[in-house]
Amino acid sequence: MLADLHLHSTASDGVLSPTALKSYVLSKGVTMMSLTDHDTMDGAMELYCNQESPLPTFVPGVELSMSNIHGLHLLGYGLRLSDKLQSVLADLKASRFQRMKEMLRRLDQMGIHVELPLDQLNAPGRPHIAREMVRQGVVTDMKEAFTRFLGHGRPAYVPGKKMSMEEAVPFLLSCGYIPVLAHPALLKHPPEELEPLLRSWVAMGLMGVEVYHPANSPEWQTILLSMARRHQLLVTGGSDFHQSGDSHGEPGCMGGSWRTMMQDVDHLKQALETVWQSRKTA
Ligand code: AMP
Ligand code: FE
Ligand code: FE
Ligand code: ZN
Repeated sequence: MLADLHLHSTASDGVLSPTALKSYVLSKGVTMMSLTDHDTMDGAMELYCNQESPLPTFVPGVELSMSNIHGLHLLGYGLRLSDKLQSVLADLKASRFQRMKEMLRRLDQMGIHVELPLDQLNAPGRPHIAREMVRQGVVTDMKEAFTRFLGHGRPAYVPGKKMSMEEAVPFLLSCGYIPVLAHPALLKHPPEELEPLLRSWVAMGLMGVEVYHPANSPEWQTILLSMARRHQLLVTGGSDFHQSGDSHGEPGCMGGSWRTMMQDVDHLKQALETVWQSRKTA
């Protein structure tokens, strides 16, 4: 088996439609996938409700941005789709459009006019602006768009609407979803600073750590694996695929380093059942 539990589609800031992503992921040999778009499960819903063509084992998922620390992302995994979760996501998704307009306005004020068909996007994000800037020749690549304009603290950056870990972790659990810390190495906190944070999040109900992610070096993977064991957390992994050739990974790319994939996925499957059964419908 080959699992990839972190993928993006055109439902957020990926470039492949959910269906095209499914085919691409299959072509890479992935047998278990989770679509974890930013702030939306519209793509997950499309795949979940349309399973007649061959599908890898499919886990509905989502990736939420947290307000506690810049770049702190939380993944949520469920056994089934949750209406309760969808209604909160609808709000987050809607606020993305306002934020995009404000970022485009700021660029405009700098003399950079970026044409973006917002009405054709589902949950737009900074990569949509960055890709268009590359296409218009304003920058040479997406990295430059982020370093010069769109990155945190850069002139066109506008913060998005975010939940806090204190809100999101218990909320996901109440929806029957498993909260997992995404790409911890991207936080750029040394391990001795990360561990107390992790402990506090575990106290809130955090259940897993994304140990296998392209941003986690082999050294980080070892550190995170021992942290996960110390705090009895689920271990997950994924490529964070958005588009080929960008700064993220290709579907299934964590297969080489994720040696305990089978056991970890088994534990995840058991936890998906347990947490789903304990969800609160009110
Ligand atoms: P947003 O959700 O709109 O804040 O955009 C965040 C997304 O931007 C991330 O999920 C990445 O896909 C992308 N991103 C963030 N930083 C960079 C970067 N330096 N280069 C390329 N993509 C980036
Ligand atoms: Fe993204
Ligand atoms: Fe992320
Ligand atoms: Zn992601």
